[in-house]
Amino acid sequence: MRIDVLTLFPEMFTPVLGSSILKRAAEAKRVEYHLTDIRQYTTNKHGKVDDRPFGGGPGMVMNCQPLWDAVMATESEDTRQATRILLTPQGEPLTQKRAENLAQQERLLLIAGHYEGIDQRVIDRLEPLEISIGDYVLSGGELPAMVLIDSVVRLIPGVLGHDESAIHDSFSPGAERLLDHPHYTRPQEWDGRGVPDVLTSGDHAAVETWRREQREKLTQQRRPDLLE
Ligand code: SAM
Repeated sequence: MRIDVLTLFPEMFTPVLGSSILKRAAEAKRVEYHLTDIRQYTTNKHGKVDDRPFGGGPGMVMNCQPLWDAVMATESEDTRQATRILLTPQGEPLTQKRAENLAQQERLLLIAGHYEGIDQRVIDRLEPLEISIGDYVLSGGELPAMVLIDSVVRLIPGVLGHDESAIHDSFSPGAERLLDHPHYTRPQEWDGRGVPDVLTSGDHAAVETWRREQREKLTQQRRPDLLE
């Protein structure tokens, strides 16, 4: 998979894409990351990429021209058709199901907005899939883009080793889209607290039953909406 990110702050991505599983995935050639600095495409002689909103009000709005030209130039770098995604609080909420679907694509092009947002005309022309990472507002689309990349890349086949498989994670098909069960590891007693007996019984069927009951109980308590 190729992932392009269009942003005014490409430097924010370096530590995240260069660490842990996202780094390993790139080293293993399961994914390539390409960062495009939208500012490099502005034709404004002062390097401006935003302006005051028509109709008045606070903040600045990102101009159409630099973003449109940045998307066209980036898309022409590769023949693979890109799924365009705009990170925005007005988008559909990011879910594990959507991440699974995006992990099947061969190319994603993510657009991170900043300031008050982006001129609606370039959004209308690009027709991106609009995705939100939650009902709160961040200063820019960079962190949302990184969240989306992490959620997708770990689902690309071969990225996670067998021991790290995502199949039983919360919201995953292997967990029947329930929340995950509690986890325990050594030592068997810590701070006067033991672990549930069933986990040390060696009875795999009983462990599976216990985990499933825990998933159902936790989901019922914390996220009954997932059971509907
Ligand atoms: N005026 C916008 C609104 O109220 O919907 C918020 C703009 S926000 C300050 C600047 C940029 O951050 C947005 O264009 C978007 O790219 C990104 N952003 C902020 N919160 C987000 C969220 N929850 N999900 C996805 N992107 C977000």
